[in-house]
Parts: sequence; structure tokens; C-alpha cells
Amino acid sequence: MNEVNLLMKCSICGKKYGKKSINIVQNKKDSMLVHVNCDFCRSSSLAVINKGIQNNDSIVTLGILTDLDYEEACNVLRKDPISFDDVLDIYECH
Ligand SMILES: [Zn+2]
Repeated sequence: MNEVNLLMKCSICGKKYGKKSINIVQNKKDSMLVHVNCDFCRSSSLAVINKGIQNNDSIVTLGILTDLDYEEACNVLRKDPISFDDVLDIYECH
């Protein structure tokens, strides 16, 4: 998780997240969904991280502020998983 720590900052107060602030909700082969909870301003976000394949860099591609805590996020996202394909289907016009 070190490489993630280096990159992830709170979008509200700009502080770096501590190790304990980052929790993995879903872990896939090339990406993962994490829940982060800022120690400083108490805001929570969900972020999608693309795992670097070539040089171990991880890139945060999407961050969403959320009211869910980690357990709630897991319950919601694991019970009713939405894949990127599903999202594309919904928004694609035919
Ligand atoms: Zn913050």
C-alpha cells in the first residue's frame, strides 16, 4: 500500500491519508476500489486506483466523496456490484 499512500491526498483539506485511513473495498487484478477516511477533516471518499503494471506506480483515477463509512461501503458495493461494463451499458445510446 506504500505507493498508494504517496499519491493519495484528501480532496477537502489536502492532507495525505495515513495508512490506517485507507481500506480496500474491492481488489481486482489491475484496479482496486478503496475507501479513505481523512483523519483531519473527517471526510470520506471512495477512489478507484489503477494498479501500475510496468513501474509499480498506482494512479488514482476517480475519487468520490461519500457519506458511507467503510463497512457501509462494503455492504453496498459488494452486495450489488456494478462493473464498469454495466455502467457503460447504461450510458451507451443505441
Ligand atoms: Zn481531509
